[in-house]
Amino acid sequence: MNAKPRGRQFFNNPGPTNIPDRVLRAMDRPVLDFMSDEFLAIQHACHAGVKRVLKTDQTLYMYNASGHGAWEAALANLFSAGDTVLIVETGYFSLSWAEMAVNLGIKVETFAADWRTGADVAKLAERLAKDKAHEIKAVLTVHNETATGMVLPVADIRRAMDETKHPALLLSDTISSLASMEYKMDAWGVDVTVGGSQKGLMLPTGMSLTGVSNKAIEVSRKNKAPRHYWNWEMMNGRAPQKFVGTAPVHMFFGLQESLKMLEEETLDGVFARHARLADATRAAVRAWGADGKGPQLYGQATDRLSNSVTAVMMPEGANSDAMRKIAVDRYNLSLGGGLGPLMGKVFRIGHMGDLNEPMLLGCLATTELAMKTAGVPFAPGGVDAAIASLAS
Ligand SMILES: *Cc1c(COP(=O)(O)O)cnc(C)c1O
Repeated sequence: MNAKPRGRQFFNNPGPTNIPDRVLRAMDRPVLDFMSDEFLAIQHACHAGVKRVLKTDQTLYMYNASGHGAWEAALANLFSAGDTVLIVETGYFSLSWAEMAVNLGIKVETFAADWRTGADVAKLAERLAKDKAHEIKAVLTVHNETATGMVLPVADIRRAMDETKHPALLLSDTISSLASMEYKMDAWGVDVTVGGSQKGLMLPTGMSLTGVSNKAIEVSRKNKAPRHYWNWEMMNGRAPQKFVGTAPVHMFFGLQESLKMLEEETLDGVFARHARLADATRAAVRAWGADGKGPQLYGQATDRLSNSVTAVMMPEGANSDAMRKIAVDRYNLSLGGGLGPLMGKVFRIGHMGDLNEPMLLGCLATTELAMKTAGVPFAPGGVDAAIASLAS
């Protein structure tokens, strides 16, 4: 058997993310009856805290499920077989949500977009304006496409919907942006926000959530599609804890602590830290590719680059998975791989959640080391560029 690498693993996957020691310690406690007053007080405080993160005063539901569960909850409550939704293509995650909708019998129209440059909102407005019969029941968006490291301007999409007076609901998957990048559910007019526990919220995988607008609640009440575990009415019926089944008590212990950490730093402070770390990461990648022969930023729209994950395109002939394998096996650095058609071509540096400058610099320096070991061509100076960015 090979010896395990020594030292702490540097974990730069774009989900799951580092779980802070404070969160782990907060979860290291005996269980509580999920109907006890003591637990309900914790749960209610967490609900209020998550609503502050979503920036919503509307309804929140939480699920014992990874992000896919919250995706399905949104679709199952709002749509019936044969309904049409329009999904804005962003990358692997928009394709996956669309596939789920198709499997639920929903008709999916894809608003096609180039993954590297992103969707054209003006063209989206034209498409909506053409839908005079209002057959499109909802516009589905992935706020932060984790596969490409690109952001979608959700507020602009709402504006396009309002300008064309289209009554469709606006859904937004914020699984990899929530608590890392600015997001304002109510101010942006989002009807359903989908979130998950294991990215910016810094928790283990297994809990997810939906913020739901009053308008979406009305739509769900009229929707006759069969559903049970995800049924919002059924969840209301299980008040006060609102879980169909046992509430995940330890997840709430962790969430209480992660919310406390976010509020100590302030959300604006959290967003500013993510912006700083993202800028440094991009500076490193640009330096690596400065001679045109090294890796390049995958995202080409400079105003849409994500502050929580950076996707890096390998130079021709170099395989990202071979480099990642060296990074993790030899140097104990875990990087994200390319998803779907980007497998082997792209690697992803997650810089969301519990991360600081030394952790990021360790990741970038070790990525250089792994690229050198793997024989991937790159121009020197990536780490220096990151340091210059952080120091400025
Ligand atoms: C991680 C992720 C998902 C999937 O969430 P799971 O918790 O893995 O089910 C969906 N959408 C986006 C944007 C993600 O980053």
